[in-house]
Amino acid sequence: MGPSRNAYLDALGIDRWVPRNSPAEVAAVPEVAPPSVSASPTRAGAPVPVPTPSPSTWTPLPPTGDWGVLRERVAGCTACAELCRTRTQTVFGVGNTRAEWLVIGEAPGAEEDRQGEPFVGRAGQLLNAMLLAIGLPRETVFIANVLKCRPPANRDPKPAEVSNCLPYLSNQIALLKPKIMLAVGRIAAQNLLATDAPLARLRGKLHHFGEANTPLVITYHPAYLLRTPSDKRKA
Ligand code: SF4
Repeated sequence: MGPSRNAYLDALGIDRWVPRNSPAEVAAVPEVAPPSVSASPTRAGAPVPVPTPSPSTWTPLPPTGDWGVLRERVAGCTACAELCRTRTQTVFGVGNTRAEWLVIGEAPGAEEDRQGEPFVGRAGQLLNAMLLAIGLPRETVFIANVLKCRPPANRDPKPAEVSNCLPYLSNQIALLKPKIMLAVGRIAAQNLLATDAPLARLRGKLHHFGEANTPLVITYHPAYLLRTPSDKRKA
């Protein structure tokens, strides 16, 4: 049990167990098996394909090589009739466009819709703490969502909305060329991997995404961890 793991547990707000009468707190924390991501990758060999869009009447523009152009396209997008009517603004994504890590969530919530930035509010603070605890200040990564507009009442994205919006995320991935992608939450994980497998089966493994075969790791959404603190240790 090293100081870095202790820092991580502290960042997530997980109590560390210390036996009574023991001054050696660090040595006393129970050992937990390390995540199997790096220890036993389950790469199947073939790259994970980009999900096949379900039928949609919207035809995306060809990918652009310019971040500014892409941002403008997203800001003016009206592909999803309901979402572009109910959103305050689109939420393009935020962070370092030279980042090695790309964090991908589901969709903007109420606060993200208001501020125009993903992962703000309490869930964002927890995500920041988790990233910082592994040596990644928020400004060193890029953070985006599968969907760039908030679904009303935070409902799950509809398949047509996901297929409409995925080309933007694919364009972001092509521009960023991340060394690793971290999908947080079931919706992001299932859509990136084109599967309906439960999150419990997807996390703790190393997946790969797209033509670049980018390593992809799945974990819990910080909003879920706020509701279910008992799973923080697994994250
Ligand atoms: S969710 Fe994506 S595809 Fe749909 S309107 Fe918003 S930006 Fe366009």
